Amino acid sequence: MASRNPGKLAELRRLLGDHSWELVDLDGAGFSGELEETGVTYDENSALKAQTVCSATGLPALADDSGIEVPALGGWPGLTSARWMGEAATDVDRLHGLLAEVERRCPDDRRARYVCVVTLARPGREPVSARGETTGVLVAPSGSGGFGYDPSFLSDDLGITFGEATADAKDRVSHRARALAALLAVLALEPERS
Ligand code: IMP
Repeated sequence: MASRNPGKLAELRRLLGDHSWELVDLDGAGFSGELEETGVTYDENSALKAQTVCSATGLPALADDSGIEVPALGGWPGLTSARWMGEAATDVDRLHGLLAEVERRCPDDRRARYVCVVTLARPGREPVSARGETTGVLVAPSGSGGFGYDPSFLSDDLGITFGEATADAKDRVSHRARALAALLAVLALEPERS
């Protein structure tokens, strides 16, 4: 799994728990390099991370690139969701920073969506990617589940924030779950290789 984000890793492990793959993290795969995010789309970044780890380790690598988008702010912070406040900022800083921006710039339209693209890169094969989205509204933080912006993401599907939701509930509707389900569906259609 080509990620160093503990929240994402926990979700990917849960979501693939029933699958027959043996999942290892970057340390387990002996990868200590940088995972660059120099692309201008989720697809580019996700593919870049998966291919970097696959090439370095010779193992199939699964990566995700994701973000939260506020349509009333032109989709911001989107691709920069993890970085827009600088390297020193914490998840809590970014959450309060996003709420402050929404309050200042679009208080009457707090709709948001999470977007995720997952990529599986395998030696000698074209990488395969799939996308998932989930919609909601940004509200005052509530609950301590999930990670990142979850306490303020009031899910349209669940009627509670992802911070209040159990892991199982988030996994039923999340952008990451939907992207992975779409990826697994594409893989299931692949012809067998002899
Ligand atoms: P990246 O994919 O490493 O660029 O990071 C995506 C960023 O988007 C994360 O660091 C979070 O700030 C945010 N994000 C993506 N998915 C989630 C989620 O499921 N919950 C909370 N925040 C998320």
